[in-house]
Amino acid sequence: MRIGIDLGGTKTEAIALDPAGVERFRGRIPTPRGDYLATLEAIVGLVREAERVVGPASVGVGIPGTVSPATGLVKNANSTWLNGRPLREDLADRLQREVRIANDANCFALSEAVDGAAAGQPIVFGVIVGTGTGGAVVANGQVLIGTNAIGGEWGHNPMPWPEPGEWPGPPCYCGRTGCIETFLSGPGLSRDHQAATGDAIDASLIAARAAAGDAAAGASMARYEGRLARALSSVINVVDPHVVVLGGGLSNIDRLYERVPRLWGRFVFSDHVATTLLRAKYGDSSGVRGAAWLWGDQEIGDRR
Ligand SMILES: [Zn+2]
Repeated sequence: MRIGIDLGGTKTEAIALDPAGVERFRGRIPTPRGDYLATLEAIVGLVREAERVVGPASVGVGIPGTVSPATGLVKNANSTWLNGRPLREDLADRLQREVRIANDANCFALSEAVDGAAAGQPIVFGVIVGTGTGGAVVANGQVLIGTNAIGGEWGHNPMPWPEPGEWPGPPCYCGRTGCIETFLSGPGLSRDHQAATGDAIDASLIAARAAAGDAAAGASMARYEGRLARALSSVINVVDPHVVVLGGGLSNIDRLYERVPRLWGRFVFSDHVATTLLRAKYGDSSGVRGAAWLWGDQEIGDRR
């Protein structure tokens, strides 16, 4: 059995998967925002609750940040009360076992590569476009974590092949300007639409209005699709994935899957682009499922 925990900014979810990937337990509690000790207790409580149902299990945790290989401490978390904390050690102490921790985008991509939209595909680039823009690479079932634990983090690269008005681009919370995230996140789409029309509405409403035939919303969506195609092309040129899987709130916009692959051919360094763009199979559950999959079959067997 595998337990996965998805430590989100507002809610913390737990799942238990049996060896076939079938869900045997699910729990959800509000994240104790700003309180590290309470966050530890919340995770431990969810693990104990799951184990009362499914018995002893491995534990993987997805966080909105990562554990620094240099220090063993959490870094890059927008849930800032985790930063600088030895989360992995503290959970291992309390649960009396090794605990795996990974970035939430890594968990998302792993879930979709193991048994989701990209099941069985050799190289998968998983993208989350929602409140932020994250990414991760899974090759032959393994997340490419990398020496700095930032593998696949494309959201804070600059928008490639910039068009007039895109450079230097909007300021980003990371201190730079014109990051991919400032264009492709939900707030990024809203900002762009507001700059063009004066209308301050969220990304889902822009997409809904475009689908209903609103010309201004359609133009905003077309700009978004062009940017997504350019940003993904730069990844395709480096990683050459078989599949790109989209997750997060904006992955629910149907037209992206038809239009973006038609646009990226101009930028990909290949006569033909075989890469496909797919919607996440597990939607919001991919993060918590992927956290469970941080432990492989062999490793689970070794622990018995
Ligand atoms: Zn940035």
